[in-house]
Amino acid sequence: MDLKRAQFPPEVAIVINRLEQAGFAAYAVGGCVRDLLRGEQPYDWDVATDAKPEDIQRVFPESFYTNAFGTVVVQIGKEFPDAPDNLKEIEVTTYRVESAYTDSRHPEEVHFVRDIAEDLARRDFTINAMALRWTQGKPELLDPFCGAADLERHVIKAVGKPDERFTEDALRLMRAVRLATQLDFTIDERTLGSIKKNAGLLRNISAERVRDELMKIIALDRAEDGVRLLESAGLLHYIIPELEEGINVAQNKHHIYTVWEHNVRSLGYAVQYHNNADVRLASLLHDIAKPRTKRGEGEYATFYGHEVVGARMAKEILRRLKFPHHTLDKVVLLIRYHLFYYNVGEVTESSVRRLVNKVGEENIADLVALRVAERKGSGTPKAKPYKLRHLEFMVEKVLRDPISVKTMAVNGSDLMQCLGLASGPKIGLLLNALFEEVLDDSAKNNKDYLICRAGELQDLSEDTLRALAQKGKEKMQKREEAELGTIKKKHFVE
Ligand code: ATP
Ligand code: MG
Repeated sequence: MDLKRAQFPPEVAIVINRLEQAGFAAYAVGGCVRDLLRGEQPYDWDVATDAKPEDIQRVFPESFYTNAFGTVVVQIGKEFPDAPDNLKEIEVTTYRVESAYTDSRHPEEVHFVRDIAEDLARRDFTINAMALRWTQGKPELLDPFCGAADLERHVIKAVGKPDERFTEDALRLMRAVRLATQLDFTIDERTLGSIKKNAGLLRNISAERVRDELMKIIALDRAEDGVRLLESAGLLHYIIPELEEGINVAQNKHHIYTVWEHNVRSLGYAVQYHNNADVRLASLLHDIAKPRTKRGEGEYATFYGHEVVGARMAKEILRRLKFPHHTLDKVVLLIRYHLFYYNVGEVTESSVRRLVNKVGEENIADLVALRVAERKGSGTPKAKPYKLRHLEFMVEKVLRDPISVKTMAVNGSDLMQCLGLASGPKIGLLLNALFEEVLDDSAKNNKDYLICRAGELQDLSEDTLRALAQKGKEKMQKREEAELGTIKKKHFVE
């Protein structure tokens, strides 16, 4: 571990220096020290100090103190206008310990302490319990729990006695899984044993905190491994037990994986194709109802209605985890329609239009993304088959306004009124003849010009007018084909 490279950015260095000049001690602590030692650029920087919140505020008039946990937000960005967003505000927290843990929840109270060692001891994992400062050009690392060694060994290990730490705050159970997944580390054996033993404590944690930690796992590149680890550590049972129902549930001749394997693999592919959180969640949950709807065994087992039951189950799960409405509605919708049928040449434009109406234009891309992840998760080799690309083309086709005389600034009844013409085939000829000109020069698409021009055209012989109209129709068809050709190219279909 090369401490010499663990330099602080100027914004952090100056916060620490000013506190020291005012007679206090101050260190960078927690996740930022961990990331620095791993050679990564930290995102959040946290500073711990023995100065009390009111002292911190005296040292930094440009700061605010809003909670009761000793954290003052120093707005150093005022002095460093070019600072990146993550360094504009630095959180400075008075050394503290947490007390009065009620039922393994977040502490109700914190106590300020004099010694940083006590502050480090209340942190969750050894790799998160280090502090670093620079004195006269020399780094000073406080590492009372051998976090640096665990970093080298790629191990997540609780500070002190794991059972006690998880009993204090059960969210740490999930944080262990999240960190292990994020860093691609393993969880120390004793710590993992304690997680399994204390998994049930998660019941005491508020749904919002569980949800947020779950979504941090789902957002990771290794989300699939994260969900597998939640399961093997016994935590999934207290988060989404419905997913466990799919373990060892075989499907039928169309699937090589069990329901559980298929669900987690689908999530893995959703991540691989850079999908958003909604698609990731939908991929993980899309077949949630298969175990409950399975009829028969072996090659010919069926799962009729699993998308309807699954949408209902997903709604219940997301409601229980207090997901916001927009996420809930979206994920439920994607699951409800994930089985949509599409085949090139077989499915008509009007049924594509119906699908778009049901799902909403804004959700079609995500529905296709779910289908892609789900197909890959079944072990199908081709990621985005021709027919899904063709569906995207069809959606774009039905959503656009086709090139037609209807887009002109005048219509048949305008012509009849202004020119005193009776209804009849001549109106159609005039419109198409006018359209021929508009297609060449869109500036001509204004009512005054077109009425005036129609007045001239109506005096032409019928044959001449018919020929002009025919030219207009052909031009329109050519344009329409060209536009569709461009959309086809975009979706790589023929
Ligand atoms: P990241 O910012 O990458 O999510 P982090 O380790 O910085 O990871 P934060 O939630 O920002 O996580 O917390 C900052 C530090 O606070 C941690 O490194 C850890 O020392 C401590 N900490 C956070 N949550 C807990 C907790 N539930 N129990 C004990 N210590 C915690
Ligand atoms: Mg952090």
